[in-house]
Amino acid sequence: MNHFARALLRPLIGAALLVAGTAAVAADQIPVVASFSILGDLVRVVGGDGVAVTSLVGPDEDAHVFEPKPADARSLVHGRLLVTNGLGFEPWAQKLVKSTGYKGQAVVASQGVKARTMPGEKGQKETDPHAWQDPGNVVLYVRNIAAALARLDPAGAATYQGNSEAYVKELQALDTWAQEQLSAIPAAKRKVITSHDAFGYFGKRYQVSFLAPQGISTEAEPSAKEVAQLIRQIQREKIKAVFFENMSSPKLLAQLAKDAGVTPGPALYVDALSKADGPAGSYLQLMRHNVMQLVAGIRQN
Ligand code: ZN
Repeated sequence: MNHFARALLRPLIGAALLVAGTAAVAADQIPVVASFSILGDLVRVVGGDGVAVTSLVGPDEDAHVFEPKPADARSLVHGRLLVTNGLGFEPWAQKLVKSTGYKGQAVVASQGVKARTMPGEKGQKETDPHAWQDPGNVVLYVRNIAAALARLDPAGAATYQGNSEAYVKELQALDTWAQEQLSAIPAAKRKVITSHDAFGYFGKRYQVSFLAPQGISTEAEPSAKEVAQLIRQIQREKIKAVFFENMSSPKLLAQLAKDAGVTPGPALYVDALSKADGPAGSYLQLMRHNVMQLVAGIRQN
């Protein structure tokens, strides 16, 4: 039974419901607001039944271009801890904190991650926020979340630490498995096209080259020249592994694949989980799904 189902079965529930955004908060639970769905899952893992989590950017939604609604503001002011990714992923979060006068605590989950940078449109360095695509970084994420929850609720500290360290073992097993899957394919074949540059950390960890028409945010549109160059590269290097993303518009990639004469594979789950009953309802499922799809795709290169 998942945490949510367990929470629903609590006898207290009917009497002690406080509605904050989408999360039903029992009286003994700490309301935590995560900026996006992947962080929401990590907070649920670490906090267990002790927390009620609301994710502002939900499943299959794009955090890069998110615009908070009044309901998001209400969720935030009811929260006692705000968990963000940082690294420039949620430019809207600070504005939301200011405009709502949020007085709770805050933690940046990526604290301590060695950030990647990429050349931006005008040659300037841009920080790549997608650090969760390397499970090694997520070890830091969950430890940061555990420490933040312990500051808020010292009595629960041992539980949060125990939950996070048990999850670290799962992350390590995931990493070993992913390494095995991808290293079984010759390095020259490990080339993939996605919509935007979200796989830099993944690519570095597992020695896969990712190319994308859009940069590290889904906000910027590529020029016709950039798209034409990418199409030539796909054809020259005979790249068949072309993937949609679950949370961004498929239009650009669909046109690019058509022009390059390749058939895109199924969606990768990139900056958001799927709905709970989908193929990527948790971070671990998301990573396993992506690795399996990527392996199937690059085999055809
Ligand atoms: Zn992204």
